[in-house]
Amino acid sequence: MKKRYALAVDTRRCVACNASVIVCKTENRVPNGGFRCWTVQETSGTFPELALEVRSERCNQCASPACVAACPTGASHVAEGGIVAVAKDQCTGCKACIASCPYGARYVHPEGPVDKCTFCLHRLARGKEPACVETCPTKALTFGDLGDPESAVARLVRGRRARTLRPEAGTNPQVFFLT
Ligand code: SF4
Ligand code: SF4
Repeated sequence: MKKRYALAVDTRRCVACNASVIVCKTENRVPNGGFRCWTVQETSGTFPELALEVRSERCNQCASPACVAACPTGASHVAEGGIVAVAKDQCTGCKACIASCPYGARYVHPEGPVDKCTFCLHRLARGKEPACVETCPTKALTFGDLGDPESAVARLVRGRRARTLRPEAGTNPQVFFLT
């Protein structure tokens, strides 16, 4: 079966320490002002019945990626395991992908091409996990092949209450938030 890489983010474990953000910047040489991942703290409810959800967010590696559909040059494409990537040499910097992404997952690199999370494709090629997953001190991030029912990520998505961000956008995200 073809691989379908996915990420489970445990909102009960994430404490928004931003270790993932820092290691991602180092690993992927993300310039000042740009981010491949970030953290969100969201309150809901009415005082005194308030709840706080803490999330580590990034590109959702959508199975129906609006960015790929919008890209006029083919620079935005689906790579191994369903990971959405940008071929820098084909990117003209037109920003159509940025406008189409419902999640604000992309930024313009000062060198010209658009950049975003790739689940650290270069690390996967060496048999390693994404840098954020390896670094997270609370083990809030679980990465793997959702197509393998025995993988840790598949078990979590199946066994816990899992949701995706903005499902109404129709992009079929492959980053799941466990609550
Ligand atoms: Fe594309 Fe945005 Fe989906 Fe990532 S989150 S695959 S950039 S539409
Ligand atoms: Fe494609 Fe680059 Fe334009 Fe984005 S900025 S739509 S990746 S050519």
